Amino acid sequence: MTVYDDLGVPTVLNGVGPATRLGGLPLHPEVWTAMQEAVAQSVRMDVLQQAAGRRLAELLGVPGVYVTSGASAALFLATAATMARGRAEHIDQLPRTEGMRHKVVIQSAHRDPYDHAITSVGATLVEIGYPESTHPGELERVLDDEVAAVVFRPGRHGNLLSLEDTARIAHAHGIPVIIDGAMFVPPIERLQAFFAAGADLVAVSGGKGLRGPQASGLLCGRPEFIDVIALYHQDMDERDVTWLPNHDATERMTPPRHGSGRPMKVGREQIAGLLTAVERYVRDPGGDERAGTEQLGEVERVLGESGILPFSRVQDPALDVPYLQLDVRAAGVEVDDVVLALARRSTPAYVGEGEAWRGVLTVNAMALTEGQGAALAAALVEVVQGLRGAAA
Ligand SMILES: *Cc1c(COP(=O)(O)O)cnc(C)c1O
Repeated sequence: MTVYDDLGVPTVLNGVGPATRLGGLPLHPEVWTAMQEAVAQSVRMDVLQQAAGRRLAELLGVPGVYVTSGASAALFLATAATMARGRAEHIDQLPRTEGMRHKVVIQSAHRDPYDHAITSVGATLVEIGYPESTHPGELERVLDDEVAAVVFRPGRHGNLLSLEDTARIAHAHGIPVIIDGAMFVPPIERLQAFFAAGADLVAVSGGKGLRGPQASGLLCGRPEFIDVIALYHQDMDERDVTWLPNHDATERMTPPRHGSGRPMKVGREQIAGLLTAVERYVRDPGGDERAGTEQLGEVERVLGESGILPFSRVQDPALDVPYLQLDVRAAGVEVDDVVLALARRSTPAYVGEGEAWRGVLTVNAMALTEGQGAALAAALVEVVQGLRGAAA
């Protein structure tokens, strides 16, 4: 009996992919075995973070890494690091920002609900440009000594500032660039390309394409920031006389207390699990996607046999995996009715609603295990038939 059976919580068919609201992806046994091993002993978390960070930086080919509880947490910690710049009195002071750089600049086209990770640090967002265009001069003229960082989100379209232009202009003013790369890694080459193009800090999800624990993430970046992230984040029940900071402090520093990043704490198991997931990825890039792609084929087979719901296979530009677009409107039913009927089944099923505005639902197979592709497709066929029957 699983904890889900015990609580009476139904397990679901997840055709959305690495969605937090559905618990994320199933983890490979190698990953949860590492998590299990990690929780059996006590370790100093700052020492573990530093060692794991070094190994991850090597594996990923980036300057430095700190393990966070997600990309959102990484974005928060990156913002805090660019605002307080490692000064204990400023770390203690956040989210009040008197005396420190408190503005974060972002192109309008890059706004996102995840911006709460930036504003909750205490930063004020300064929006430049318009939804489909930003001029270089619009960035130039807002960069003053109140600006902590510029945030950049890849994958947005329009006459926007490229990462290269953004970094060149920001760096000329001594201002770092933070990238929200949550969905964009793997491939790892993309992460390396962000740094080659001038990124200073990059936030990445551990629970999306890397297939690590759902509550894990990476903050990648230059050592001058990464080495002091612990000060914003870790348990700082330290006495200043016995504290052994594990970063190269140039002068004896009075330690800050628990920083404002402390609510996003990371356990040993997240660190061990994410490290193992990244090792798996590097050993065989895309290997774990083969099972999902097989399940996507099963969805296509069952839908194809029924002929009731036209679909096409396309590539997801961010996650870099194939997914299906289901032309629900062409099947003569309403997308909202399909979504609600799927959610009300005894085994609830979920599909992507990102293209619902144009009558299309999507299927991402990253979370589907053996047999679930066919089961999800059968549920879709039954729901569409039922809705058509009700309309007739
Ligand atoms: C998923 C996502 C996040 C949050 O990632 P978590 O690892 O779940 O915290 C942040 N930004 C963007 C653009 C995302 O897609």
